[in-house]
Amino acid sequence: MAGKYIYFFGAGSAEGNKEMKNLLGGKGANLAEMAGIGLPVPPGFTVSTEVCDLFYKNKQRIPEGVKLEVEKNLKKLEKAVGQELGNTKNPLLVSIRSGARASMPGMMDTILNLGLNDRTVEALIAKTGNARFAYDSYRRFVQMYGDVVLGLKPANKDDIDPFEVIIERKKHDRAIHSDTDLTAADLKDLVSKFKAAIKEKTGHDFPENPMTQMWGAIGAVFSSWMNDRAIAYRKMYDIPESWGTAVNVQLMVFGNMGDDSGTGVAFTRDAATGANVFYGEYLMNAQGEDVVAGTRTPLPIAELAKDDPKAYAQLDKIRHILEKHYTDMMDIEFTIQQGKLYMLQCRVGKRTAFAAIKIAVDMVEEKLISEKEALTRIEPDQLNQLLRPIFDVKEKESAVKNGRLLAKGLNAGPGAASGRLVFNSIDAADWAKRGEKVILTRIETSPEDIKGMDAAEGILTARGGMTSHAALVARQMGRVCVAGCSELGIDYARHTMTVKGRILKEGDWISIDGTTGQVLEGKINTKPSEVLQVLLEKTLDPKDAPVYRTFAKVMKWADAYRTLKIRTNADQPNQARNAVAFGAEGIGLCRTEHMFFGEGKIGPMREMILADTVEDRKAALAKLLPLQRKDFAGIFEVMNGRPVTIRTIDPPLHEFLPHAEKDQRALAADMGLTYEKVRDRVESLHEFNPMLGFRGCRLGIIYPEITEMQARAIFEAAADTKKKGIDVEPEVMIPLVGNVKELANQEKIVRRAAEAVMKEKGVKFKYLVGTMIEIPRGALTADEIASVAEFFSFGTNDLTQTTLGVSRDDAGRFLTPYVEMGIYAKDPFEVLDRDGVGRLMRMAVDKGRATRPGIKLGICGEHGGEPSSVEFCHLIGLNYVSCSPFRVPIARLAAARAVLLNAPLTPAKTAAKPKAPAEAKTKKVARQRQGNGRT
Ligand code: PEP
Ligand code: MG
Repeated sequence: MAGKYIYFFGAGSAEGNKEMKNLLGGKGANLAEMAGIGLPVPPGFTVSTEVCDLFYKNKQRIPEGVKLEVEKNLKKLEKAVGQELGNTKNPLLVSIRSGARASMPGMMDTILNLGLNDRTVEALIAKTGNARFAYDSYRRFVQMYGDVVLGLKPANKDDIDPFEVIIERKKHDRAIHSDTDLTAADLKDLVSKFKAAIKEKTGHDFPENPMTQMWGAIGAVFSSWMNDRAIAYRKMYDIPESWGTAVNVQLMVFGNMGDDSGTGVAFTRDAATGANVFYGEYLMNAQGEDVVAGTRTPLPIAELAKDDPKAYAQLDKIRHILEKHYTDMMDIEFTIQQGKLYMLQCRVGKRTAFAAIKIAVDMVEEKLISEKEALTRIEPDQLNQLLRPIFDVKEKESAVKNGRLLAKGLNAGPGAASGRLVFNSIDAADWAKRGEKVILTRIETSPEDIKGMDAAEGILTARGGMTSHAALVARQMGRVCVAGCSELGIDYARHTMTVKGRILKEGDWISIDGTTGQVLEGKINTKPSEVLQVLLEKTLDPKDAPVYRTFAKVMKWADAYRTLKIRTNADQPNQARNAVAFGAEGIGLCRTEHMFFGEGKIGPMREMILADTVEDRKAALAKLLPLQRKDFAGIFEVMNGRPVTIRTIDPPLHEFLPHAEKDQRALAADMGLTYEKVRDRVESLHEFNPMLGFRGCRLGIIYPEITEMQARAIFEAAADTKKKGIDVEPEVMIPLVGNVKELANQEKIVRRAAEAVMKEKGVKFKYLVGTMIEIPRGALTADEIASVAEFFSFGTNDLTQTTLGVSRDDAGRFLTPYVEMGIYAKDPFEVLDRDGVGRLMRMAVDKGRATRPGIKLGICGEHGGEPSSVEFCHLIGLNYVSCSPFRVPIARLAAARAVLLNAPLTPAKTAAKPKAPAEAKTKKVARQRQGNGRT
């Protein structure tokens, strides 16, 4: 076994550094970095991620060669600190922690105080003169080891930790309430009871030998890479299984050695709002797990200035050193052991979307980073959080006035959420699957709750601080969260929550305000975000909207770097207006069939479909023409000279007809037809596979009068708008073309209508005729098609369905398992399948440009608003992407990042950064396409 597998750090030097995350994991790399720049880091060593791979290849055993290296580094550590593992006079105690390349908070296991046994604990007592501390450390170690290495865990979702049962029994017997009231003798007794429980459940004694403990712990941490919650987390954040975790073995330092000791976690800026303030929490006389687990409510970091001014001043200095060194907001963990400060961890801090944007913008202004760097630090999907609803202020005020304010906790994850109470993660996920909005309410959350937290609208906890698990994870997921709401009495077994004498049951509605920390009874309606209020509703002045102003700055920077144009998919003037407010530069897809469902249009549409003769069809179309013209004129006006791509009718006609007998009878009565005639016509339009049937350009080819009417409506509207002094740029798009002759057929009709209208109206306007590329034959023969088409727009919804041979409406049943099984990395209807669909697109681009070098190329499938797909569109040289109005800001940023992240390698400052999971993925954006019908 060749190679280096262990990296030592501490005492002012380190073998690793922050660039070595792949090998050392985030924690190990940053410990090395901090040690390297002279920050006070307890010494230790990192077992690299490569060993994780070897461990799994070696039937989950640590290879002998690695063991030898561990022993060598252990000696080095012992020498550095003057202590020895298992020594009965001066024992070394270590922590064993996981640390993957991407941060996976709480997903894997940790063991503290390793090295304690019945003999070394005596040495610890002699050394510290504090028997209570020594036995408390010992019982924590046995408890963690029992849980992590020996597998003594709660048996089911309503069950409590078996060790906690023993502790609770002890407290009950001793008539005490708090863990801190347990004496040294109590804790000593707990140790032996824990060991007895271990023996009873596993049949084995607790290992007293520290090296046995060490191998057990390192193995368990590697094994935790494959535990359920780590697997679920990786799936959620697209972290490859092959990365593996590193293991950090490090000198223990104790925050619970007395009143001159303490521990805390902090962010170098406010992780919720992004404000440039030192933000964190600490507890004196406590261990790190007490702060994170939320068993005691910690104090704000500013208080430390009073409790330990020297440590506070040092910490504040380190805060600035770290921000300058990393040029980012950092998340740190520290411990003060008898007045001496130690840094236990630092990493780039997770933050809300609000904070991500504000910090990026502030750091540009502070000249810490460049504009480009700022843009690469904001994941496009994070912008969704800025567009999230807030409570209707009046409604909330009246709820408070009417006594519905139940309690106030910590404002851990901003935003507003209303939902039904559920008390465990499994129920949260199940209820959400049924379409219920839920608020996951827990005493405190743990990594096991990750799926339920993801499914919930909001998370409410009774215990824990701003850096508790609930708070951290909620912010990362973009969930609304109120944490540490201590007034809540939560009864898991009864599924109830008692507060202020009121009992709320599972299923009752509550509302939580993650911006203020308020918890309210009942449902409260929500209102759009600040950005929406400024941009869309125009009810808020930008000067009163700081979040909006920061958002606007980012958008401005993004626009300066992107080369892709951003258009929108809109069928109504108000949608177009919203999109323009969000920055759309044109319409990339107006689905005309959506308009037929508007007021007064479905009747003539149905008449047209039911017509037996060309004359009848023309008569019905004549009724539709002015209605369509009005719609188009409305859109042209809003778009004010920006290009507008209007697609001729696309879906199978039967989608417009009623299918229930009652509705068919009503339609027959309306039209003066017999019920039988309507029924028979509907039946005659039935198709076995309508998606591959009589739809798209096939409709206009068989019924040319439909295309003629639509083209006329478009051009008459264009002429009328132009006459009003408003510029127009119509682009008529023919759908589902697979053969150039189809397009040529339709083009002729469209151009004839254009010439006629220009003549009749006496105005000239520019217009284009182009096509969608949405079936493989279209892509394969794009060179021929480009001889007619002035533009291509990739209809990647259909192109995905036809390339993969997967029905876009029926894929749910197998596509989700497919993605879970890794057959497709992502749902190809959400994220463009670059290897398949993408290859066809690339071919069509090349062929199209070969025939017509200036051809305009865009995309209007749903992928046009999905960041990774936008990047692909940039890479293959499209001119624009088109997406739903609410995704326009996301696409603007994604397009800028596509430029920046794919730029030729430049100095480190602006180079591409690896994706951090915090920024990797938020919630799926609602698709513009609704339901399973196409219209
Ligand atoms: C497409 O197929 O990608 C497209 C935009 O058209 P529709 O979704 O209307 O079929
Ligand atoms: Mg389509």
